[in-house]
Amino acid sequence: MSLLIEPIPAFDDNYIWLLHRPDSQVCAVVDPGDEDPVIERLRAKGLQLAAILITHKHGDHTGGIRGLKQRWPEAVVYGPARESIPMLERPLGEGERVAIGGLEADFIVMDVPGHTEGHIAYLGEGVLFCGDTLFGGGCGRVFSGTYEQLSDSLARFAELPGDTLAYCAHEYTLANLGFAKWVEPENAALLARELQDRARRERGEPTVPSTLELELATNPFLRQEQPTVIAAAEKWAGQALPDRHAVFRALRTWKDREYD
Ligand code: ZN
Ligand code: FE
Repeated sequence: MSLLIEPIPAFDDNYIWLLHRPDSQVCAVVDPGDEDPVIERLRAKGLQLAAILITHKHGDHTGGIRGLKQRWPEAVVYGPARESIPMLERPLGEGERVAIGGLEADFIVMDVPGHTEGHIAYLGEGVLFCGDTLFGGGCGRVFSGTYEQLSDSLARFAELPGDTLAYCAHEYTLANLGFAKWVEPENAALLARELQDRARRERGEPTVPSTLELELATNPFLRQEQPTVIAAAEKWAGQALPDRHAVFRALRTWKDREYD
């Protein structure tokens, strides 16, 4: 039976993703920044935690690990080998496979540094858990990685099948689409997406996941090589930009300084 993926909202705008199957009590969570909402949801559904998948070291993604391990000591903590993660048991890097026993879910790890130096993503079952690397209509800030790394990580996502569902860790889409319109005010797909996602939020629904195909059509940070995006970035920078890395750096800096 199909894998069910549902959001557990945490803090102001985080999503902790819950994975389970309709015929099983086994479940996994991705990026539990807080244990309380997870414990509450798992209790209500009668689920047992088998795995905790971590994308990167920030506290809003890892703060719930200890509390969850207290409640479910058998839950295995997976996370990036190149970052310090509390209680990490399975350090992971590029190309490694994560098979969650009992859940029958299989993922391949991608190294996607940039937001942080060791950020990883989990790809499999037609979905991508991308943490704070890619957001609906936007991308993470560059904290402890580099602009070049984040540009390259996003370019790798752009190569994945278009129907891949991207599960990011924050509900930032509407704000991001506002900036996307600064970059491409005449992008029809972007304007249509904004209407659709605004309606979702008004109904109290998440805008996540989105498809990579939709991100490719609307997210300027996945459109680093589109002429309209290059032109807008060059206009803001006041100079010609030699390559995709320079375009990405200009876009990200523009958003940091003038929009966020
Ligand atoms: Zn983060
Ligand atoms: Fe975060």
